[in-house]
Amino acid sequence: MQTLEDVFVVIAPSGTGKTTLNRKLISENSDKIEMSVSYTTRPKRQNEKEGEHYNFVTREVFENLIREDKMLEWANVHGNFYGTPLSEIKRIRDKSKLILLEIDIQGWQNAKNLLPGAKSVFIMPPSVDIMWSRLEGRGTDDLSVRIVRLDSAQLELEKAHMCDMFVINDSIDSAIHELEQLIMHRKVPELNREKALRHAEDLLRTIKSAEWLKKIRESFDT
Ligand code: ADP
Ligand code: 5GP
Repeated sequence: MQTLEDVFVVIAPSGTGKTTLNRKLISENSDKIEMSVSYTTRPKRQNEKEGEHYNFVTREVFENLIREDKMLEWANVHGNFYGTPLSEIKRIRDKSKLILLEIDIQGWQNAKNLLPGAKSVFIMPPSVDIMWSRLEGRGTDDLSVRIVRLDSAQLELEKAHMCDMFVINDSIDSAIHELEQLIMHRKVPELNREKALRHAEDLLRTIKSAEWLKKIRESFDT
């Protein structure tokens, strides 16, 4: 019988690389860990598959799932709804595997008390410039969407202190190694909490005051 200590939650501002890292972690440890597939009302991206990346549903279907108490947690993120169905927790637990949830910070806030023993990992980009260029480079979101995601990044970073462990996604190889150490081997994080929260504060300061970001915002407003 598994316990909820087998639930890991990975949180990161959009563009940090969490999907890339999580998918690699899962594919390299597929006999031991599985990712919960969320429901979302966001439109499907070209490279995404129904039922694999998300279950893509209408707002009406999503609201019914909430009404029927089928969601562990849900949140409005960047203007779309996202939620973790309870059935996913059961499905993965029944296979005696670790459960990986890729949710936003509000979801963690809502689910924390329902998942005693679950551990959260907050992933950060090395810098805001890099996060922004990763978002651009992904090529899935136009400028207005990227600006909304930057605003959400600010909210996530302000609440980073709610998380248990921290990783900076600089090189993919070292970030994936660290994530594996934390989740698969329950090792002590390389990055201590104090340093991590200082990095989060630095990122926040840049988001709030960088001239280049002000210019991007202004160019979009005009
Ligand atoms: P998120 O899920 O956090 O929004 P993604 O996993 O979609 O981010 O990554 C955003 C973009 O950044 C993708 O194009 C991905 O290939 C790239 N990326 C992710 N991690 C790194 C890294 N460590 N170095 C360089 N590019 C990365
Ligand atoms: P994206 O649109 O880039 O796939 O995801 C946007 C945000 O929604 C990310 O921060 C992601 O972690 C979050 N998210 C994805 N699934 C869920 C979920 O089931 N619940 C919550 N609360 N957030 C989610």
